[in-house]
Amino acid sequence: METPIEQPVDEITRLQRCVNDLVSILALPAMWTGGDPSHIGHTLIDSLASILTLDFVYVRLNDQVGARIEMVRGARLATPQAEDIGADLRHWFGDHPETWPPVVRCRIGDEDLSIAAVPLGFHGKLGIIVTGAQRVDFPEQKERLLLTVAANQASIALREAQVLSEQRGLAQELDRRVAHRTLELAQANEDLRREMAERTRAKTQLAGENELLQMVASGRVLADVLAALCRFVEETADDCICGAYLIDWRVPAFQNGGSPSLPTSFTAPIEGLPVRSELCPCGIAALEKRQVISADLESDPLWHDTAYRSLLLSHGLRSVWSTPILALSGRVLGTFAIYHRRPATPSPGVQELIAQVTHIASIAIERAQDEAALKRSAAFLAQGQHLSSTGTFSWRLDTDDIRFSEEANRIFEFDADSRVSLEQIADRVHPEDIQLLSEKVEFARRTGGDVDYEIRLRLADASVKYLRTIAHGSRDENGRMEYIGAIQDVTARRLSEQAFERARSELAHVARVATLGALTASIAHEVNQPLSGIITNAGTCLRMLDASPPDVDGARETARRTIRDGNRASDVITRLRSLFSKKEFTQELLDLNEATREVIALSLSELQRNRVVVQSELADDLPSITGDRVQLQQVLLNLLRNASDAMVGVDDRPRQLLIRTESEGRDHVRVTVRDAGVGIERQVMDKLFDAFYTTKSSGMGIGLSVSRAIVERHRGRLWAEPNDGPGATFAFSIPRDPERTTDAARIVRHS
Ligand code: ADP
Repeated sequence: METPIEQPVDEITRLQRCVNDLVSILALPAMWTGGDPSHIGHTLIDSLASILTLDFVYVRLNDQVGARIEMVRGARLATPQAEDIGADLRHWFGDHPETWPPVVRCRIGDEDLSIAAVPLGFHGKLGIIVTGAQRVDFPEQKERLLLTVAANQASIALREAQVLSEQRGLAQELDRRVAHRTLELAQANEDLRREMAERTRAKTQLAGENELLQMVASGRVLADVLAALCRFVEETADDCICGAYLIDWRVPAFQNGGSPSLPTSFTAPIEGLPVRSELCPCGIAALEKRQVISADLESDPLWHDTAYRSLLLSHGLRSVWSTPILALSGRVLGTFAIYHRRPATPSPGVQELIAQVTHIASIAIERAQDEAALKRSAAFLAQGQHLSSTGTFSWRLDTDDIRFSEEANRIFEFDADSRVSLEQIADRVHPEDIQLLSEKVEFARRTGGDVDYEIRLRLADASVKYLRTIAHGSRDENGRMEYIGAIQDVTARRLSEQAFERARSELAHVARVATLGALTASIAHEVNQPLSGIITNAGTCLRMLDASPPDVDGARETARRTIRDGNRASDVITRLRSLFSKKEFTQELLDLNEATREVIALSLSELQRNRVVVQSELADDLPSITGDRVQLQQVLLNLLRNASDAMVGVDDRPRQLLIRTESEGRDHVRVTVRDAGVGIERQVMDKLFDAFYTTKSSGMGIGLSVSRAIVERHRGRLWAEPNDGPGATFAFSIPRDPERTTDAARIVRHS
């Protein structure tokens, strides 16, 4: 509705004033630039309060602008409170300002006022401006215009402030996020740096550990290993020094790298701390208790008042951790100690490393000791094998894998490193013994039983070696058969036995020849007797035939006696020839009584000459035996002659000689010759049978040794014993059949 222009001057003035007010209001945004909603609100209120004639101006800003704000300016109202006016307005118009009426008259406080409300922002989203005046015509058109313009300006400013605030918030958020991310990155960077450092340290530690373990594994001197361990622990652990003590530095395997003047203990060098030669109390306790001992130097009673403690404390060392170094066998080799400058124990990693290094070092020690012992025993064995000319071998039956010891190779004249095969062995074996070898190999394969045999080798230079092989078969854990055995070169023994046998046979021959001289007379007498008998009988026979009438029966009888004497002479000659011929050992069935009688007959004249009274007790049922008749007679002849010689000087008693034959057990016969001669001393009993032992001026001392050899060849034995009274008894016992006599039986009888 248009107001009629009453007074043009007034109107112009009024318009000018309105324009001025508008200019003031339009100038507000310049003040508001960069301002916050509260600032906008306050300047708005102040401007409206100064421009318009009002009782109050109330502005309420909503949350949308950043915070809910209520503010008020009063012209006439006594110090109005924003909250009170807000409460009155809400009382009248409700809680939603956007629905409040634009113009209304109502009571605010104690007065009736015309109220004009202008929303801020679209639909009052940003807030509301409420003005009140007592005038009934409030608001006039001009006032409405100004309020609306002011509200618009304020809305724009609030909107800008809102945008600015949002931008600021965003910028702050951005800054916050950047700062946060930067922090994260810095953290990650630090983690990475730490990880890198950790990795480098771990790598160094690993390299150090590897170096240590390699040192140990390569069998370096234990002292070196422990010194390296000390250095390593000092470098990797914090603020500590290390020491190690070994009970015995002269562990054989580690001697080679070390000097003989090594100290008996050491500590890592620090200035003023001397290398000590005794153990610290913790080390002693660790050794004795075989466990880790750690102690605080200042408080632990273990260290109470020791000089060592003062020394360590004076170097700022506060705690000790000591572990025993144990060998696998449980033997204590020494201790390892770590001295810290503060109460501490080494980290589990360091402890584990120490345990590992000392453990491996101890294994290395024991391995080295074992190897040394093995080497020593192998050397002993080789030496023993060489000295006894005995080699050893193993033979795997499934693969025919044969291993020869050094000495076995030497015996067979094989190259030391050549592989040995059955063919190679057979190649060396004497052709005559090949059969025996293959029998033994076949026996071993078939039965797995023990073997013990003698075989000859024929070597490239045609020399012959005699080898005795003894082997025992056994199965390994997989059931495979293996023979382990010894081969002894018995050539020297065999050759000397053969030489001895030859010498013995020569001696026997010499003995027989020697006996010849002594017996010639009696044999001649023996032959003479039948010869003169023959002559006498032949003469008698002739006389009987010449008689008239001829005595034919007498002549026949005489002729028979002639033949008998002739045969006897012939027998004597035959025996004589065989006795002195160098015949080899012959086996025949013989009657020992008869052989004895012959010997007595042969020796009788000599015995009689020596005034020896011969008595014979020949067993009637004596079984015949198998043996060499002539050799056994030679034994008897020798015993009779010795008995006769032993009685030569005996004049105070009969020179009695008893010859007895008898059975001994089921399969032996015994011949005993007992005299009453000078007898034998017990101490010379064993010597009698030695070759060349004689007490006679014309003796040769071979009779008994040859006799014993003959008897033993018959698998019997010959012995002597003093009589209870004067004289001695010589006897021999032989099996009826030497072939059926076992070696065992022979050995038993000999022992
Ligand atoms: P030799 O008769 O040539 O001395 P032997 O070997 O037959 O050789 O005898 C060795 C020694 O044994 C004799 O020298 C003698 O001292 C002793 N001897 C042998 N038989 C008897 C015996 N019946 N009584 C005492 N000593 C004997």
